[in-house]
Amino acid sequence: MKFATKAIHAGVEPDPTTGAIMTPIYQTSTYVQESPGKHKGYEYSRTHNPTRTALQNALAALENGKHGICYASGLAATDAVLKLYRPGDEIIATNDIYGGTYRIMKRIYEPFCLTFKFVDMSNMANIEAAVSEKTKMIWIETPTNPLLKIVDIKAITSICRKRGIHSVVDNTFASPYLQNPLDMEADIVMHSVTKYLGGHSDTVMGALVTNDDALAKELAFIQNASGAVPGPQDCFLVLRGLKTLHIRMQRHCENAMEVAKWLEAHPKVSKVYYPGLPAHPGHELASRQMRGYGGMLSFELKGDVYDEAVKTMENLKVFSLGESLGGVESLCTHPASMTHASIPKEERLKTGLKDTLIRLSVGIEDVEDLIADLEQAIG
Ligand SMILES: *Cc1c(COP(=O)(O)O)cnc(C)c1O
Repeated sequence: MKFATKAIHAGVEPDPTTGAIMTPIYQTSTYVQESPGKHKGYEYSRTHNPTRTALQNALAALENGKHGICYASGLAATDAVLKLYRPGDEIIATNDIYGGTYRIMKRIYEPFCLTFKFVDMSNMANIEAAVSEKTKMIWIETPTNPLLKIVDIKAITSICRKRGIHSVVDNTFASPYLQNPLDMEADIVMHSVTKYLGGHSDTVMGALVTNDDALAKELAFIQNASGAVPGPQDCFLVLRGLKTLHIRMQRHCENAMEVAKWLEAHPKVSKVYYPGLPAHPGHELASRQMRGYGGMLSFELKGDVYDEAVKTMENLKVFSLGESLGGVESLCTHPASMTHASIPKEERLKTGLKDTLIRLSVGIEDVEDLIADLEQAIG
């Protein structure tokens, strides 16, 4: 099946009791058993819930994977992955990384004696240099947040396969519509479902997809044993969001490309970070690795004046100022004070994240209105 057909049909079967075409919201904590241990595959909703099962199967299908496992948030999904490792294990991660991922690694798991090395993955030599006998996993994020760097997934997964190291890809920015890391030999794909997959800024959720039966078993064990599961209502909302993922992503890509080109030509803009622009250092790789360039971009104004960046963000009217991304509506974020505030300033600056960087999640409104809004805001 091709992508759009899967987005609409995968994982979803007509309800066996009524024929309802949409998976019902099974708002139940428990399931009645005929006799002890004799049941229909459902015992307790932390362990299994039919609405969640439908969503997990849909997400697995969209990532060309066998197993989908959903969690209460993207970070709960990341937490489940990190629980696979033991004291002394070493993990290498992208340095330009989602702030919350950095925080859970440094603040939660480092005290439990996992070791983390953050490296610039746009240069393979940095990864080769960081790998040791203790390395158990490489955490890739691409495109990166918020600088939109492109990391070569295949090059890293082949290093991992050779050395028996797990590779995990945070595919939140691309969505499965634009990029399928499992097809590039990654072991696990992670999503903040909150973003493009849900797509309507109304749900917080995370997911992991894998083809590896043993990993899937362990991750499902952690899902149940640690208990960070999403509720059925949220699963229903995401199932609904998925049905338009392909058309939303098409429009996100088209609009972001227009906005990026417009910003690039603007006399007051010094730099635009968008992989769809030929001037972007990751453009060629993105063209090979992805089927489009996505809806996220960042930019800086000439002179790097903090107050001017703030003024521009305050002036925006169609773009709402807020954290998060990937919803139908356009959002503007100030990474240094919002999404990436949990990364120390000196670490941020090392990766190139300036305090004047403005990040946009370009929505699916009429692009003329988005550009007019930016025009009045930049002045
Ligand atoms: C939002 C986000 C996360 C965290 O997901 P939550 O659903 O907010 O817990 C992880 N990675 C990326 C790239 C994100 O944008």
